[in-house]
Amino acid sequence: MPVFTCHKNHVGYNGEGFVYPAPLTTKLDEQEVAIIVNFPSSEQLSHLGEFGLIRRIAGRIAADDSVVTGIGDDAAVTALTPGMQLLTSTDMLLEDVHFRRVWHDPYRLGRKSLAVSISDIAAMGAIPRWALLSLALPSGLSLDFVDRFMEGFLSMAAEQGVSLTGGDTCSSKTGLVISVTIMGEQFPERIIRRSGACVDDDIWVTGTLGDAALALQVTEKGGDTSLVSRLLDPTPRVSAALELARFGYATALIDVSDGVLADFGHIAELSAVGGQLFVEELPLSQQLRAEAAVITANPYQLALSGGEDYELCFTAPPANREKIRESMKKCGVEVTRIGIVTPPTGVFALNGDGSRFTCLAAGFNHFN
Ligand code: ADP
Ligand code: MG
Repeated sequence: MPVFTCHKNHVGYNGEGFVYPAPLTTKLDEQEVAIIVNFPSSEQLSHLGEFGLIRRIAGRIAADDSVVTGIGDDAAVTALTPGMQLLTSTDMLLEDVHFRRVWHDPYRLGRKSLAVSISDIAAMGAIPRWALLSLALPSGLSLDFVDRFMEGFLSMAAEQGVSLTGGDTCSSKTGLVISVTIMGEQFPERIIRRSGACVDDDIWVTGTLGDAALALQVTEKGGDTSLVSRLLDPTPRVSAALELARFGYATALIDVSDGVLADFGHIAELSAVGGQLFVEELPLSQQLRAEAAVITANPYQLALSGGEDYELCFTAPPANREKIRESMKKCGVEVTRIGIVTPPTGVFALNGDGSRFTCLAAGFNHFN
Protein backbone atom coordinates (compact mmCIF):
# COMPACT_ATOMS: atom_id res chain seq x y z
CA MET A 1 0.00 0.00 0.00
CA PRO A 2 1.56 3.36 -0.96
CA VAL A 3 2.09 6.09 1.61
CA PHE A 4 1.12 9.53 0.38
CA THR A 5 3.07 12.64 1.07
CA CYS A 6 1.33 15.98 0.62
CA HIS A 7 3.55 19.06 0.62
CA LYS A 8 1.97 22.45 1.23
CA ASN A 9 4.42 25.27 0.66
CA HIS A 10 3.12 28.69 1.64
CA VAL A 11 5.56 31.24 0.38
CA GLY A 12 5.36 34.52 2.29
CA TYR A 13 6.84 37.98 1.72
CA ASN A 14 8.13 39.60 4.95
CA GLY A 15 9.00 43.02 3.55
CA GLU A 16 12.64 42.11 2.89
CA GLY A 17 12.32 39.03 0.82
CA PHE A 18 10.40 35.82 0.23
CA VAL A 19 10.22 33.33 3.07
CA TYR A 20 10.10 29.67 2.23
CA PRO A 21 8.85 27.67 5.20
CA ALA A 22 9.79 24.05 5.63
CA PRO A 23 7.32 21.86 3.77
CA LEU A 24 4.39 20.66 5.83
CA THR A 25 4.31 16.98 5.19
CA THR A 26 1.24 14.89 5.87
CA LYS A 27 1.84 11.19 5.67
CA LEU A 28 -1.23 9.02 5.43
CA ASP A 29 -0.72 5.65 7.00
CA GLU A 30 -1.97 2.43 5.48
CA GLN A 31 -5.16 2.52 7.52
CA GLU A 32 -6.09 6.00 6.29
CA VAL A 33 -5.41 5.02 2.68
CA ALA A 34 -7.52 1.89 3.20
CA ILE A 35 -10.46 4.02 4.33
CA ILE A 36 -10.30 6.04 1.12
CA VAL A 37 -9.82 3.01 -1.09
CA ASN A 38 -12.83 1.34 0.51
CA PHE A 39 -15.06 4.42 0.45
CA PRO A 40 -18.41 3.05 -0.80
CA SER A 41 -18.79 3.53 -4.54
CA SER A 42 -22.44 4.52 -4.14
CA GLU A 43 -21.09 7.80 -2.76
CA GLN A 44 -20.56 10.80 -5.00
CA LEU A 45 -17.17 11.93 -6.25
CA SER A 46 -17.71 15.28 -4.55
CA HIS A 47 -17.50 13.59 -1.14
CA LEU A 48 -14.21 11.91 -1.94
CA GLY A 49 -12.64 14.95 -3.64
CA GLU A 50 -9.74 15.08 -6.11
CA PHE A 51 -7.09 13.83 -3.72
CA GLY A 52 -9.32 11.16 -2.24
CA LEU A 53 -9.93 9.87 -5.74
CA ILE A 54 -6.22 9.85 -6.57
CA ARG A 55 -5.48 7.93 -3.36
CA ARG A 56 -8.26 5.52 -4.18
CA ILE A 57 -6.74 4.88 -7.62
CA ALA A 58 -3.24 4.54 -6.17
CA GLY A 59 -4.47 2.08 -3.57
CA ARG A 60 -5.42 -0.36 -6.32
CA ILE A 61 -2.14 -0.46 -8.19
CA ALA A 62 0.07 -3.52 -8.15
CA ALA A 63 3.75 -3.19 -7.23
CA ASP A 64 6.31 -3.03 -10.06
CA ASP A 65 10.08 -3.07 -9.50
CA SER A 66 10.68 -0.74 -12.45
CA VAL A 67 8.61 2.00 -10.79
CA VAL A 68 11.02 3.74 -8.41
CA THR A 69 8.49 6.46 -7.45
CA GLY A 70 4.88 6.09 -8.51
CA ILE A 71 1.71 8.08 -7.90
CA GLY A 72 1.95 10.76 -5.24
CA ASP A 73 5.02 12.81 -6.09
CA ASP A 74 5.36 15.59 -8.67
CA ALA A 75 6.67 13.18 -11.26
CA ALA A 76 7.08 9.45 -11.50
CA VAL A 77 10.53 7.88 -11.62
CA THR A 78 10.94 4.70 -13.63
CA ALA A 79 13.94 2.53 -14.42
CA LEU A 80 14.47 1.65 -18.08
CA THR A 81 15.95 -1.74 -18.89
CA PRO A 82 19.67 -1.13 -19.64
CA GLY A 83 20.31 -0.82 -23.37
CA MET A 84 16.70 -0.04 -24.27
CA GLN A 85 15.25 3.22 -25.59
CA LEU A 86 12.07 4.90 -24.31
CA LEU A 87 9.00 5.11 -26.59
CA THR A 88 6.16 7.47 -25.74
CA SER A 89 2.73 8.06 -27.20
CA THR A 90 -0.43 9.82 -26.08
CA ASP A 91 -4.10 9.53 -27.01
CA MET A 92 -7.30 11.34 -26.06
CA LEU A 93 -10.73 9.78 -25.87
CA LEU A 94 -13.57 12.27 -25.82
CA GLU A 95 -17.14 11.51 -24.93
CA ASP A 96 -19.38 11.74 -28.02
CA VAL A 97 -16.35 11.92 -30.32
CA HIS A 98 -14.70 8.56 -29.54
CA PHE A 99 -17.29 6.87 -27.37
CA ARG A 100 -20.80 7.27 -26.05
CA ARG A 101 -21.49 6.59 -22.41
CA VAL A 102 -24.84 5.04 -23.26
CA TRP A 103 -23.22 2.15 -25.13
CA HIS A 104 -19.82 1.97 -23.64
CA ASP A 105 -19.97 0.47 -20.16
CA PRO A 106 -17.28 1.92 -17.86
CA TYR A 107 -15.38 -1.35 -17.41
CA ARG A 108 -14.79 -1.85 -21.13
CA LEU A 109 -14.21 1.88 -21.61
CA GLY A 110 -11.38 1.63 -19.08
CA ARG A 111 -9.92 -1.38 -20.88
CA LYS A 112 -10.16 0.26 -24.28
CA SER A 113 -8.66 3.55 -23.07
CA LEU A 114 -5.45 1.73 -22.28
CA ALA A 115 -5.65 -0.87 -25.07
CA VAL A 116 -5.55 1.73 -27.86
CA SER A 117 -2.40 3.26 -26.37
CA ILE A 118 -0.77 -0.13 -25.84
CA SER A 119 -1.51 -0.81 -29.51
CA ASP A 120 0.61 2.23 -30.48
CA ILE A 121 3.59 0.87 -28.58
CA ALA A 122 3.04 -2.59 -30.10
CA ALA A 123 2.96 -0.89 -33.51
CA MET A 124 6.61 0.09 -32.96
CA GLY A 125 7.58 -3.45 -32.01
CA ALA A 126 8.14 -2.26 -28.44
CA ILE A 127 7.20 -3.47 -24.96
CA PRO A 128 4.45 -1.42 -23.25
CA ARG A 129 5.57 -0.64 -19.68
CA TRP A 130 4.14 2.45 -17.99
CA ALA A 131 1.09 4.69 -18.41
CA LEU A 132 -0.18 8.06 -17.22
CA LEU A 133 -3.94 8.57 -17.02
CA SER A 134 -5.56 11.99 -17.11
CA LEU A 135 -9.26 12.29 -16.46
CA ALA A 136 -11.64 15.23 -16.79
CA LEU A 137 -14.78 14.07 -15.02
CA PRO A 138 -18.19 15.73 -15.50
CA SER A 139 -19.88 16.69 -12.24
CA GLY A 140 -22.58 14.18 -11.51
CA LEU A 141 -20.52 11.23 -12.74
CA SER A 142 -20.88 8.55 -10.10
CA LEU A 143 -17.98 7.17 -8.15
CA ASP A 144 -19.26 3.76 -9.19
CA PHE A 145 -18.62 4.69 -12.84
CA VAL A 146 -15.06 5.78 -12.01
CA ASP A 147 -14.46 2.61 -9.98
CA ARG A 148 -15.66 0.37 -12.80
CA PHE A 149 -13.62 2.38 -15.30
CA MET A 150 -10.49 1.95 -13.17
CA GLU A 151 -11.17 -1.77 -12.74
CA GLY A 152 -11.26 -2.11 -16.50
CA PHE A 153 -8.19 0.07 -17.00
CA LEU A 154 -6.19 -1.84 -14.40
CA SER A 155 -7.32 -5.23 -15.75
CA MET A 156 -5.86 -4.32 -19.16
CA ALA A 157 -2.76 -2.97 -17.42
CA ALA A 158 -2.29 -6.25 -15.54
CA GLU A 159 -2.83 -8.38 -18.67
CA GLN A 160 -0.24 -6.41 -20.62
CA GLY A 161 2.32 -5.78 -17.86
CA VAL A 162 1.75 -2.01 -17.78
CA SER A 163 2.01 0.04 -14.56
CA LEU A 164 0.01 3.19 -13.95
CA THR A 165 2.59 5.67 -12.66
CA GLY A 166 0.61 8.92 -12.55
CA GLY A 167 -1.82 11.21 -14.27
CA ASP A 168 -4.00 14.22 -13.67
CA THR A 169 -7.55 14.55 -12.40
CA CYS A 170 -9.90 17.47 -12.88
CA SER A 171 -13.56 18.29 -13.38
CA SER A 172 -15.13 18.79 -16.79
CA LYS A 173 -17.87 21.24 -17.70
CA THR A 174 -18.68 19.20 -20.79
CA GLY A 175 -18.26 15.48 -21.28
CA LEU A 176 -15.85 12.89 -19.96
CA VAL A 177 -12.30 13.29 -21.30
CA ILE A 178 -9.75 10.50 -20.95
CA SER A 179 -6.14 11.00 -21.91
CA VAL A 180 -3.61 8.20 -21.71
CA THR A 181 0.12 8.61 -22.16
CA ILE A 182 1.92 5.36 -22.63
CA MET A 183 5.59 4.57 -22.37
CA GLY A 184 7.33 1.50 -23.69
CA GLU A 185 10.87 0.35 -24.23
CA GLN A 186 12.86 -1.65 -26.71
CA PHE A 187 16.40 -2.28 -27.91
CA PRO A 188 17.08 0.28 -30.66
CA GLU A 189 17.72 -2.31 -33.37
CA ARG A 190 14.36 -3.99 -32.73
CA ILE A 191 12.14 -0.91 -33.09
CA ILE A 192 9.99 -1.14 -36.24
CA ARG A 193 9.04 2.15 -37.88
CA ARG A 194 6.55 3.07 -40.58
CA SER A 195 9.41 4.11 -42.82
CA GLY A 196 11.13 0.81 -43.61
CA ALA A 197 8.93 -0.76 -46.34
CA CYS A 198 10.75 -1.77 -49.55
CA VAL A 199 9.45 -2.33 -53.09
CA ASP A 200 8.40 -6.00 -53.59
CA ASP A 201 7.83 -6.58 -49.85
CA ASP A 202 4.62 -8.40 -48.95
CA ILE A 203 1.89 -6.56 -47.04
CA TRP A 204 0.42 -8.52 -44.13
CA VAL A 205 -2.31 -8.06 -41.53
CA THR A 206 -3.07 -9.94 -38.33
CA GLY A 207 -6.57 -11.07 -37.34
CA THR A 208 -9.65 -9.96 -39.25
CA LEU A 209 -10.62 -6.53 -40.56
CA GLY A 210 -13.85 -4.53 -40.49
CA ASP A 211 -15.36 -6.08 -37.37
CA ALA A 212 -15.22 -2.95 -35.23
CA ALA A 213 -16.60 -0.83 -38.08
CA LEU A 214 -19.53 -3.17 -38.51
CA ALA A 215 -20.20 -3.13 -34.77
CA LEU A 216 -20.07 0.67 -34.73
CA GLN A 217 -22.56 1.04 -37.55
CA VAL A 218 -24.96 -1.57 -36.16
CA THR A 219 -24.79 -0.06 -32.66
CA GLU A 220 -25.35 3.45 -34.01
CA LYS A 221 -28.53 2.17 -35.63
CA GLY A 222 -29.66 0.77 -32.28
CA GLY A 223 -29.07 -2.87 -33.29
CA ASP A 224 -27.19 -5.76 -31.67
CA THR A 225 -24.20 -7.60 -33.08
CA SER A 226 -22.03 -10.51 -32.04
CA LEU A 227 -19.05 -8.31 -32.99
CA VAL A 228 -19.66 -5.67 -30.35
CA SER A 229 -16.67 -6.69 -28.23
CA ARG A 230 -14.39 -6.00 -31.22
CA LEU A 231 -15.51 -2.38 -30.92
CA LEU A 232 -15.79 -2.00 -27.15
CA ASP A 233 -12.95 -4.24 -25.96
CA PRO A 234 -10.20 -4.50 -28.59
CA THR A 235 -7.10 -6.64 -28.01
CA PRO A 236 -3.75 -5.00 -28.74
CA ARG A 237 -1.46 -7.41 -30.64
CA VAL A 238 1.52 -7.07 -28.36
CA SER A 239 2.96 -10.60 -28.48
CA ALA A 240 2.71 -10.74 -32.28
CA ALA A 241 4.46 -7.38 -32.59
CA LEU A 242 7.23 -8.40 -30.19
CA GLU A 243 7.78 -11.59 -32.12
CA LEU A 244 8.21 -9.61 -35.36
CA ALA A 245 10.58 -7.26 -33.55
CA ARG A 246 12.64 -9.98 -31.91
CA PHE A 247 13.41 -11.78 -35.15
CA GLY A 248 13.51 -8.71 -37.39
CA TYR A 249 10.94 -10.15 -39.80
CA ALA A 250 9.07 -6.92 -40.60
CA THR A 251 10.44 -3.88 -42.45
CA ALA A 252 7.57 -1.52 -41.47
CA LEU A 253 4.71 -1.77 -39.00
CA ILE A 254 1.55 0.16 -38.06
CA ASP A 255 -1.60 -0.65 -36.11
CA VAL A 256 -4.89 -0.54 -38.00
CA SER A 257 -6.84 2.21 -36.28
CA ASP A 258 -8.20 4.19 -39.24
CA GLY A 259 -8.81 1.41 -41.79
CA VAL A 260 -6.13 -0.67 -43.52
CA LEU A 261 -6.19 1.36 -46.74
CA ALA A 262 -5.50 4.60 -44.87
CA ASP A 263 -3.07 2.98 -42.45
CA PHE A 264 -1.04 1.24 -45.12
CA GLY A 265 -1.10 4.65 -46.82
CA HIS A 266 0.85 6.03 -43.83
CA ILE A 267 3.51 3.33 -44.28
CA ALA A 268 3.63 4.09 -48.01
CA GLU A 269 4.07 7.80 -47.40
CA LEU A 270 6.85 7.46 -44.84
CA SER A 271 8.60 4.68 -46.77
CA ALA A 272 8.25 6.54 -50.11
CA VAL A 273 6.64 3.52 -51.76
CA GLY A 274 3.24 2.57 -53.18
CA GLY A 275 1.15 -0.54 -52.72
CA GLN A 276 -1.50 -2.83 -54.07
CA LEU A 277 -4.00 -4.34 -51.65
CA PHE A 278 -5.78 -7.45 -52.93
CA VAL A 279 -9.34 -6.85 -51.75
CA GLU A 280 -10.46 -10.46 -52.00
CA GLU A 281 -7.56 -11.54 -49.78
CA LEU A 282 -8.62 -9.28 -46.90
CA PRO A 283 -9.39 -11.49 -43.87
CA LEU A 284 -13.07 -11.32 -42.91
CA SER A 285 -14.49 -12.95 -39.79
CA GLN A 286 -17.36 -15.45 -40.08
CA GLN A 287 -19.53 -13.01 -38.13
CA LEU A 288 -18.73 -10.16 -40.51
CA ARG A 289 -19.63 -12.32 -43.50
CA ALA A 290 -22.91 -13.25 -41.83
CA GLU A 291 -23.88 -9.80 -40.57
CA ALA A 292 -22.45 -7.29 -43.06
CA ALA A 293 -25.50 -7.33 -45.32
CA VAL A 294 -27.42 -5.02 -42.95
CA ILE A 295 -24.79 -2.32 -43.52
CA THR A 296 -23.29 -2.82 -46.95
CA ALA A 297 -23.62 -4.99 -50.06
CA ASN A 298 -19.85 -5.45 -50.03
CA PRO A 299 -18.19 -6.46 -46.73
CA TYR A 300 -14.77 -5.62 -48.20
CA GLN A 301 -15.76 -1.95 -47.97
CA LEU A 302 -15.81 -2.34 -44.17
CA ALA A 303 -12.56 -4.29 -44.16
CA LEU A 304 -10.69 -1.66 -46.21
CA SER A 305 -11.87 1.53 -44.59
CA GLY A 306 -13.29 0.54 -41.21
CA GLY A 307 -11.34 1.87 -38.22
CA GLU A 308 -10.56 0.61 -34.74
CA ASP A 309 -9.60 -2.98 -35.51
CA TYR A 310 -6.23 -2.52 -33.74
CA GLU A 311 -4.73 -5.30 -35.82
CA LEU A 312 -1.16 -5.00 -37.09
CA CYS A 313 -0.36 -4.18 -40.71
CA PHE A 314 3.26 -4.80 -41.67
CA THR A 315 5.56 -5.29 -44.61
CA ALA A 316 8.21 -7.97 -44.96
CA PRO A 317 10.43 -9.45 -47.67
CA PRO A 318 8.89 -12.50 -49.45
CA ALA A 319 11.77 -14.65 -48.08
CA ASN A 320 10.22 -14.32 -44.60
CA ARG A 321 6.77 -15.73 -45.52
CA GLU A 322 7.06 -19.12 -43.83
CA LYS A 323 8.83 -17.75 -40.75
CA ILE A 324 6.08 -15.14 -40.35
CA ARG A 325 3.31 -17.73 -40.66
CA GLU A 326 5.01 -19.95 -38.08
CA SER A 327 5.77 -17.23 -35.57
CA MET A 328 2.28 -15.71 -35.73
CA LYS A 329 0.81 -19.18 -35.24
CA LYS A 330 2.98 -19.54 -32.14
CA CYS A 331 1.38 -16.33 -30.82
CA GLY A 332 -2.11 -17.64 -31.59
CA VAL A 333 -2.68 -14.84 -34.10
CA GLU A 334 -3.99 -15.32 -37.63
CA VAL A 335 -1.93 -13.63 -40.31
CA THR A 336 -2.82 -12.95 -43.95
CA ARG A 337 -0.78 -11.66 -46.87
CA ILE A 338 -2.97 -8.96 -48.39
CA GLY A 339 -0.82 -7.16 -50.93
CA ILE A 340 2.54 -6.07 -52.26
CA VAL A 341 4.66 -2.97 -51.97
CA THR A 342 5.23 -1.18 -55.30
CA PRO A 343 7.22 1.85 -56.47
CA PRO A 344 5.66 5.14 -55.30
CA THR A 345 2.80 5.42 -57.79
CA GLY A 346 0.00 5.38 -55.17
CA VAL A 347 -1.83 2.91 -52.96
CA PHE A 348 -4.62 0.99 -54.68
CA ALA A 349 -7.14 -1.66 -53.74
CA LEU A 350 -7.52 -4.23 -56.54
CA ASN A 351 -10.24 -6.74 -57.36
CA GLY A 352 -9.35 -10.37 -58.14
CA ASP A 353 -9.22 -9.57 -61.90
CA GLY A 354 -6.72 -6.74 -61.32
CA SER A 355 -9.26 -3.92 -61.82
CA ARG A 356 -9.40 -1.07 -59.31
CA PHE A 357 -11.76 -1.51 -56.37
CA THR A 358 -13.62 1.68 -55.50
CA CYS A 359 -13.43 2.33 -51.80
CA LEU A 360 -16.56 4.30 -50.83
CA ALA A 361 -15.28 5.70 -47.55
CA ALA A 362 -11.90 7.11 -46.68
CA GLY A 363 -10.37 6.13 -43.36
CA PHE A 364 -11.42 8.03 -40.26
CA ASN A 365 -10.24 11.65 -40.12
CA HIS A 366 -11.32 14.07 -37.38
CA PHE A 367 -11.62 17.17 -39.54
CA ASN A 368 -13.53 15.88 -42.55
P1 ADP B 1 0.28 18.28 -9.50
O1 ADP B 1 -0.55 19.31 -8.79
O2 ADP B 1 1.75 18.31 -9.19
O3 ADP B 1 -0.04 18.17 -10.96
P2 ADP B 1 -1.62 16.31 -8.83
O4 ADP B 1 -2.27 16.74 -7.60
O5 ADP B 1 -2.29 16.55 -10.13
O6 ADP B 1 -0.16 16.90 -8.84
O7 ADP B 1 -1.32 14.76 -8.74
C1 ADP B 1 -0.79 14.19 -7.58
C2 ADP B 1 -0.24 12.83 -7.92
O8 ADP B 1 -1.30 11.98 -8.33
C3 ADP B 1 0.75 12.83 -9.07
O9 ADP B 1 1.73 11.84 -8.78
C4 ADP B 1 -0.06 12.44 -10.26
O10 ADP B 1 0.75 11.79 -11.22
C5 ADP B 1 -1.07 11.48 -9.61
N1 ADP B 1 -2.37 11.44 -10.32
C6 ADP B 1 -3.26 12.43 -10.48
N2 ADP B 1 -4.35 12.02 -11.15
C7 ADP B 1 -4.15 10.71 -11.43
C8 ADP B 1 -4.91 9.71 -12.12
N3 ADP B 1 -6.09 9.97 -12.68
N4 ADP B 1 -4.39 8.48 -12.22
C9 ADP B 1 -3.17 8.21 -11.69
N5 ADP B 1 -2.42 9.08 -11.02
C10 ADP B 1 -2.90 10.33 -10.89
MG1 MG C 1 -1.76 17.63 -11.85
